[in-house]
Amino acid sequence: MKYPDLTNWLAGGPDASDVALLDVTDPSTGDIIARVPMSAAREVDRAVRAAASVHPAWAALPIKERVQVMFRYRNLLERHIDELTALVTEENGKIGIEARAEILKSIELTEFACSLPQIATGTVLEVSRGVECRVERFPVGVVGVITPFNFPNMVPNWSLPNALTLGNCVILKPSELVPLSGMRIAALLQEAGLPAGVLQVVHGGRDAVEALCDHPGIAGLTFVGSTKVAKIVYRRATGTLKRCLALGGAKNHLIVMPDADREMAATNIVASMSGCAGQRCMAASVMVAVADTDHIVARMVEVAKAMQPGKDFGPVISAASRARIVGYIDEAERAGATVLVDGRRTVVKGREGGFYLGPTIIDHVTPVMRIAQEEVFGPVLSIVRTRDVDEALRVEAASPYGNAASVFTESGGVARYVMEHATAGMVGVNVGVPVPREPFSFGGWNESRFGVGDITGHSSIEFWTQAKKMTTKWNREAGTNWMS
Ligand code: NAD
Repeated sequence: MKYPDLTNWLAGGPDASDVALLDVTDPSTGDIIARVPMSAAREVDRAVRAAASVHPAWAALPIKERVQVMFRYRNLLERHIDELTALVTEENGKIGIEARAEILKSIELTEFACSLPQIATGTVLEVSRGVECRVERFPVGVVGVITPFNFPNMVPNWSLPNALTLGNCVILKPSELVPLSGMRIAALLQEAGLPAGVLQVVHGGRDAVEALCDHPGIAGLTFVGSTKVAKIVYRRATGTLKRCLALGGAKNHLIVMPDADREMAATNIVASMSGCAGQRCMAASVMVAVADTDHIVARMVEVAKAMQPGKDFGPVISAASRARIVGYIDEAERAGATVLVDGRRTVVKGREGGFYLGPTIIDHVTPVMRIAQEEVFGPVLSIVRTRDVDEALRVEAASPYGNAASVFTESGGVARYVMEHATAGMVGVNVGVPVPREPFSFGGWNESRFGVGDITGHSSIEFWTQAKKMTTKWNREAGTNWMS
């Protein structure tokens, strides 16, 4: 085993417990590299108590002092980028440039947190003669952050820098499939000066998540993962009267018009469906091809076929995941779809134990097929043929998800029409992965997000704080009127 058994991270240090351990696998080799504790209610309770004891002191610090930790943390992320990149590659499988991009995004997220003292200020107004109303933001308290396997470093950093800078204490529950990056984040934040107990890491799966939802000492929760679990978490957390923002799965549609720039569309679409082995919640899943787009599809096939396994794309997360994805492809083929590029038999020499699956492009998928409706979460693109843009938009709108949508066209009018009518929270024009960058916030619509607001950017300020409205009067000579 490459790494010693992991422990939870409590009160600023490792916390060994006697819970069962789960194997952690390197998806590019199939080798077991570590074991992670599967905590439950008892471990969550210990973490909540430790956090509650330090929260008053952390919350009482002026934000300009708290934010100093984030300046140092940002620089530590930069200094350790090679090591953090390698760790993401090791536990998640994504290739080096993808893992590095994830750390760069974590740096950008932390830079946003560094700006919070400038933008999360209160407001004050003289509302009647001599009477002032002011609004100040206060932290929510001890909060939980539950993350998925596909971005072991970035998704925790969607929440941690903002939640901590705004005065909360956080209990991070990383995905049990990729627990190593979360531990490094905790260690780097400690090195950056975060006081012990302000961030804790509790490992585990369902039991730990349910305990976080149920614990009365937790005031708020962010969750990122599948829609199935997002619904469970949102219902359970709000059922115990917590604020909760639960981001779920996706089924992203890219509408491609015949006038789209052939090269730009083809390369962007293939990059979107195959990047991170298709395991991005912003990945292209369905290309809705409008009228004659065969020249673009032909170029996409060339680009996808030229990709080298292990160099241009990594494995999917597990053998079970690969089998599930292959099942979708087999079923679509049996139902009459045409597999133009077939990644099902991909093997990487020397890494035969890895869970590789090459980019797969399937034409003539119909909207009723399961592959057109459900989240596949692998490097698979279904092409659905339509006559015009309205029919394409109807295909897009039929999906219960609403994370991202894009249109590829040279027409400003068509682009604007799709931007206005697509039923997704993040929309792109000639962009395969329309992720908003800071300070713009990240979040989908419909079954891709439960709760109000987005998880990053300005929107997160509302989530991680509560506003106190204060009305004061000091000058007797101002007199009284009907409002004071
Ligand atoms: P997942 O839902 O299986 O797991 C997410 C988290 O929930 C993990 O920490 C896991 O331990 C926990 N969990 C799993 N089953 C649970 C259960 N029954 N009860 C309580 N907790 C449970 O998701 P995943 O497979 O790790 O990640 C992939 C999914 O995440 C995809 O659906 C993807 O679209 C989604 N995702 C969405 C976004 C977004 O912004 N909307 C971003 C990244 C990933």
